[in-house]
Amino acid sequence: MEKHLLQRYQTKLIEVRQRLIDEVNSAEESLREDINSPGTTSNLPTHPADHDSTGLDEQLAIVANEEQLLEEVEAALARIEAGSFGKCVDCNKPIDAQRLAAIPYAARCIDCAKRHEVELS
Ligand SMILES: [Zn+2]
Repeated sequence: MEKHLLQRYQTKLIEVRQRLIDEVNSAEESLREDINSPGTTSNLPTHPADHDSTGLDEQLAIVANEEQLLEEVEAALARIEAGSFGKCVDCNKPIDAQRLAAIPYAARCIDCAKRHEVELS
């Protein structure tokens, strides 16, 4: 991959990483506030459906999702350092430029990503 293109991806990935770190931090902070705020534990709704839309489970899921994303972004930055960025980690073929433009932290080409998802599910 051309160096200027690589640098552009690196800049983008660093921005995404920073945004994710901020979001994880503020989500964890509000989670702590939810858990620690006085009086809420004694009168918690007994039925899960009574929870508001930003319930604890949902927030935890968001944090888990963003931490997962953060790992993928870190891995992509490591691949830039290692010189293997833009190549599929499974088949070593170049990842489609459009795919990389949309998902700069993509580790796999479309074919391998599909196969990977099937394997996971
Ligand atoms: Zn592949």
